[in-house]
Amino acid sequence: MSETPDRIGRLIDAAHRGEDLSREDLAFLLSLSDEASLGALETAANSARREYVGDAVHLRGIVEFSNFCRQNCLYCGLRRDNRDVVRYRMDEDAVLAAVHGIRDKGIGTVVLQSGEDPAYTRGDLCRIVGRIKDETGLIVTLSVGERPREDYRAFREAGADRYLLKHETASPDLYRRLRPGCTLEDRLRCLKDLRDLGYEVGTGNMVGLPGQTPEILAEDLLLMRSLDADMLGIGPFIPHPGTPLADEPGGDLAGTLRVLALARLLTRNTNIPATTALGTLHPEGRIRALRAGANVVMPDFTPESLRARYDIYPGKAAVPDGDVLLARLREDLILLGRQIGKGPGGRSGPR
Ligand code: SF4
Repeated sequence: MSETPDRIGRLIDAAHRGEDLSREDLAFLLSLSDEASLGALETAANSARREYVGDAVHLRGIVEFSNFCRQNCLYCGLRRDNRDVVRYRMDEDAVLAAVHGIRDKGIGTVVLQSGEDPAYTRGDLCRIVGRIKDETGLIVTLSVGERPREDYRAFREAGADRYLLKHETASPDLYRRLRPGCTLEDRLRCLKDLRDLGYEVGTGNMVGLPGQTPEILAEDLLLMRSLDADMLGIGPFIPHPGTPLADEPGGDLAGTLRVLALARLLTRNTNIPATTALGTLHPEGRIRALRAGANVVMPDFTPESLRARYDIYPGKAAVPDGDVLLARLREDLILLGRQIGKGPGGRSGPR
């Protein structure tokens, strides 16, 4: 018992110095629930964030252009069996109009996000990406799920720069249970394809999933590190009433911050967003994440009439419009002594 505070301090210092932590040590830090150890992790992660990626907070404007999905993930409100969702698809001109709005705000990156929706063919997405590059010159991040390697290649050739594909959980069993018909192996193959094709690649997980243990979360962190991803999205699991996991307890702010802080310490110069899910879960979620290692914020520029329908977790309807979030963020950044980043905000420095 008396050794515990020493062990915590030793491990956090080692991680801060860039040393590898074992699965067992990570699981130990992730099994704690006290304020003091979380505070120490946040302080160390904030210091590592300043050292490796600086004070800039990079913005990515999101456009959620389709809420159709062919998958049936147990945790997600957009799963195909959820008949309560009013589905929508934005056409090419509507997407472009939203992207022009993002460019006009001075934001340098757009994230095009959707469920896995085969109605948008390879050619459709290439045309949209090509037009965005021609008309706005923005950095384009795609987040449209698992596709054949040839699609990824075509999107890249059309100008897509980055791709987000969260691994969700590093446990093959939990993955299979939560994502029926899908395997972690396929997911990792997609991530490898994306990396081979020259994308900046983002991955990430959910915290608080039913059946998740500190050991599984430790595996998540080790996987993030071994994938050498450029971006890491770490958000809480928020149970959705229209899913089979409606009655599960869900993740909390403290547990998610613990994972986020450790991810910053282990991966150092990756881009880590203060996720919208964390801001939805808790009023202080975004600012706490920015103090615990995060350096990216992703305001939502999906047209207002559609935004609430991108109902991946409850509370999404209350996600502020991109302009409102930007105004709040500017106030937060004054308090934090930080500033909005300029330029593309890609991963900086050596991997
Ligand atoms: S998590 Fe993604 S792939 Fe799974 S149902 Fe939701 S939108 Fe579809």
